[in-house]
Amino acid sequence: MEVSAGIMKRTTTLSDQMQKDNNLEQRLQARHVQPTAMRLLVLDCMIRQKAAVSLSDLENRLPRSDRTTLYRTLKTFEEKGVIHQIHDDSGTVKYAVCPEDCSCSYPNDLHVHFYCSSCEKTNCFPHLSVPDFDLPDNFRPVSGNFVINGLCPSCSG
Ligand SMILES: [Zn+2]
Ligand SMILES: [Zn+2]
Ligand SMILES: [Zn+2]
Repeated sequence: MEVSAGIMKRTTTLSDQMQKDNNLEQRLQARHVQPTAMRLLVLDCMIRQKAAVSLSDLENRLPRSDRTTLYRTLKTFEEKGVIHQIHDDSGTVKYAVCPEDCSCSYPNDLHVHFYCSSCEKTNCFPHLSVPDFDLPDNFRPVSGNFVINGLCPSCSG
């Protein structure tokens, strides 16, 4: 009895893992990105983070991959609209995974980010969209970067 329960549990875990890998693959394919093992690893790592990641963060979390490959992976993801850049007060470019329906266009996909000045983590809030500002004549926006500075829940308590 105990043995079969154990096997059942393991089977479920394995199929959950396969399901997750399929979803990641589909996500990349939907953006016309060939889902290589490296790209799946990076995407999985980024999705699991609660905060936006820098190149160095990724390097620390994926110690067996080299910086150049990670950088190229991020560039490809960015070009294809899988992730977007965030520029906060840390001075280091950070990246967050785009919502599945994102086209990284201005102003439709512009949303709020929050930079915590204490722990230096940046959160991405895709559900908080930024309005299409009525800019003065002849100011032609191409992209935007909206960051609120302050203290996150872990640091403001
Ligand atoms: Zn995007
Ligand atoms: Zn914080
Ligand atoms: Zn974002």
